[in-house]
Amino acid sequence: MLRSIIPLILVLPLLVAGCKKSSTLAKLEDNSSGKPPVAAVAQATATPTPPPAIDRSAKVIVFCYHRFEDNPRDTLAILPAEFRAQMKQLKEDGIAVVGMKDFLAWRRGEKSIPPKSAVITIDDGYASGYTVAWPILKEFGYPFTMFIYTNYVNVGGKSITWAQLEQMRDAGVDIESHTISHHDLRHAPRGQDYTAWLHNEIFGSKDILEQKLGINIVAFAFPYGTHNETVRKMAMEAGYQALFTVYGQHMGIDAAADQLGRYAVESMHPDVFKMAVNFGNNDGVDPGVEAAQLASAAMVTQPMNEERIPYTRPVIKANLASMGEVEPNSVEMRVSGYGLVPAKYDPKTKLVSYEFTQNLVPKTYTVILSAKVKGRKLETRWNFTVDPTAPAAGKQAAVQGA
Ligand SMILES: [Zn+2]
Repeated sequence: MLRSIIPLILVLPLLVAGCKKSSTLAKLEDNSSGKPPVAAVAQATATPTPPPAIDRSAKVIVFCYHRFEDNPRDTLAILPAEFRAQMKQLKEDGIAVVGMKDFLAWRRGEKSIPPKSAVITIDDGYASGYTVAWPILKEFGYPFTMFIYTNYVNVGGKSITWAQLEQMRDAGVDIESHTISHHDLRHAPRGQDYTAWLHNEIFGSKDILEQKLGINIVAFAFPYGTHNETVRKMAMEAGYQALFTVYGQHMGIDAAADQLGRYAVESMHPDVFKMAVNFGNNDGVDPGVEAAQLASAAMVTQPMNEERIPYTRPVIKANLASMGEVEPNSVEMRVSGYGLVPAKYDPKTKLVSYEFTQNLVPKTYTVILSAKVKGRKLETRWNFTVDPTAPAAGKQAAVQGA
């Protein structure tokens, strides 16, 4: 750092010697008091502003989009008209779109953001982010972030080009890392050493984007939203200030930097956007879909609602008997910070269960269960807290049929 600054400072007075002197630069040259120029520069640029009063109670939602297409046929695509309507709705609902850098500045206590704020991110690096989404976002004057995985740049087909990314960068679009290869970061590809491979995906992608575009990369999005402790730790060590999953949440200022949630929005699941823009009662837990909510008290779960457990690899179970005739293939379990987990559902016992294969960090987790009953989607949620100091013989819910 110093090495690059010092020659610049020494050269600066020479560069301006032949042109009209600005007052700042004149001061630099006229510095005959024996102080080194470095001090003068620091003085001239220092801004002794007191830290701003920031709104610590603001809530932020982060959107994750992928492709913008007229004929959406998969869970990555959204109709441009639908996207535009969503952008319009944010304005109508009084939800302010803030840029990634402002979001992070707020988290550091340096800048305030409106009470209901949204960050827009677009993953992978599809050209439609440039050709379709960008013009729409410009209409609204919304900042946004492109999460790029570098292997997918300039490869033809639907991929974005480096030249397009340069244009976006020049216009102030935020560009961040989404790895090199877009593999699930929990497992190395066959035959590769996990640590070395992971290091390259996390550090290497940051370096490529920084070198190619001359920018500073501060955010990282996990491919598929999947991660583990090793991944999170290494990414924080790489200097990322924010790591993003695809588990949408209304986030407060204290949301963990290594697992920030995003709502993945596409045409096939319009409920996700509705859920996101419903800031509800601001209690930090996102309100449910517009479907009948089942009181979790009516359902036997393990751990129980609001239970504190000392175990870091709990088995999560719930008996769905109270839901009625559940369509077996429609049962889905989500866990905050993990997203959709491969829970097993047994139609005979009506039990759904999932055993964690990785250790949970001590904190509160929300479990969201959804299932279709007679074509209608029902959802319920409850939370539990992993707390190593909780009594080991703590109440373990007896799940019927377990
Ligand atoms: Zn992706």
